[in-house]
Amino acid sequence: MQRILTIIGARPQFIKASVVSRAIQATEGIEEILLHTGQHFDANMSEVFFDQLGIPRPDVQLDIHGGSHGAMTGRMLSEIEQIILREKPDRVMVYGDTNSTLAGALAAAKLHVRVAHVEAGLRSFNMAMPEELNRILTDQISDLLFCPTDTALRNLEAEGFDNKPVQVLQVGDVMQDAALFFARHAVAPEGLPAEIFATDGHGQSRKNGAGGAGFILATLHRAENTDDPLRLAGIVEALNQIHREIAPVILPLHPRTRAAIDREGLTLEPHVIDPVGYFEMLWLLDHCGLVLTDSGGVQKEAFFFGKACVTMRDQTEWVELVEAGANELVGADAERILSAGRRHLGRTIEDRHELYGGGKAAERIVGKILEEGRA
Ligand code: UDP
Repeated sequence: MQRILTIIGARPQFIKASVVSRAIQATEGIEEILLHTGQHFDANMSEVFFDQLGIPRPDVQLDIHGGSHGAMTGRMLSEIEQIILREKPDRVMVYGDTNSTLAGALAAAKLHVRVAHVEAGLRSFNMAMPEELNRILTDQISDLLFCPTDTALRNLEAEGFDNKPVQVLQVGDVMQDAALFFARHAVAPEGLPAEIFATDGHGQSRKNGAGGAGFILATLHRAENTDDPLRLAGIVEALNQIHREIAPVILPLHPRTRAAIDREGLTLEPHVIDPVGYFEMLWLLDHCGLVLTDSGGVQKEAFFFGKACVTMRDQTEWVELVEAGANELVGADAERILSAGRRHLGRTIEDRHELYGGGKAAERIVGKILEEGRA
């Protein structure tokens, strides 16, 4: 029996790990120990995903959040090291690009425990992003690198991974597995304003009278936007104007963004709601007429649901969506956001591309880990 220590801590990691955990449970030969670092701790940023996605309760619950990046990562490194020494896993498994990812991988590598990285090879080529540092460093100390896309595979080739004694595999994207598997559970968030139902993407009505294009689903939480007053002000101005002039905007607001908006004394005019669970998010994705976001995961989810995406960043790790005409990068400039919003609202995107593996990523990941365990 192989013992795998899975390390998660942030919202997107709960979603990614849920499909792999389910595949592990359906398999003989792997025992999973689940460690939650506590990076995200609000009920609507953490617990709701365990409940909805059927993730087992964490075997180890840490309580590490807040503080500077260095302090948070350092505390995680020190505490995870103790857990690895105690639990003696055969392998550690980490997801994505957060501080929990890097701390888990580094603690393991320093104890000579093998590391599998799910979502390896993604690059924005912007070293100012904390996520970029986390992913580059995690890839460097992993021996099993599960890439979600061909682009990610090519990025690692370009960094010389072909010549390293590690395995790099394109397995597809676990987030597509999750969206496909859970789509049937989609449910409208409670307390949505009637206007949202009236402009539902399956429905009618548009503020400027053009009709039928639906509401806009927006999310905003990247540090490069929330921690830069000028960028944040540009985005808020654009969201307000879009909501007033183009279509109603619904914005499930990340706690970090709420704090930044309060700090800057800005006013948001869209329908702001608390962060929603995954099933509610799937409903919003399915029923909206456009996605406006700076999230990594949400860019792809827009595509999975056939919606165009306007991305409020200067780079994306998901370049194949831009190449396919499904995603436009507009940065944080109010005029550019507004103009893209007008152009893309109500466009239907066809998923012709088989870009993300078609829902088989978790199965491939678990198959490979089993094979490695036998080797
Ligand atoms: N998400 C959610 N509720 C929300 C906002 C996002 O369930 O209120 C989901 C979203 O559908 C996606 C994941 O959280 O699956 C993305 O996480 P986030 O945007 O926080 O991180 P990123 O993908 O940018 O790392």
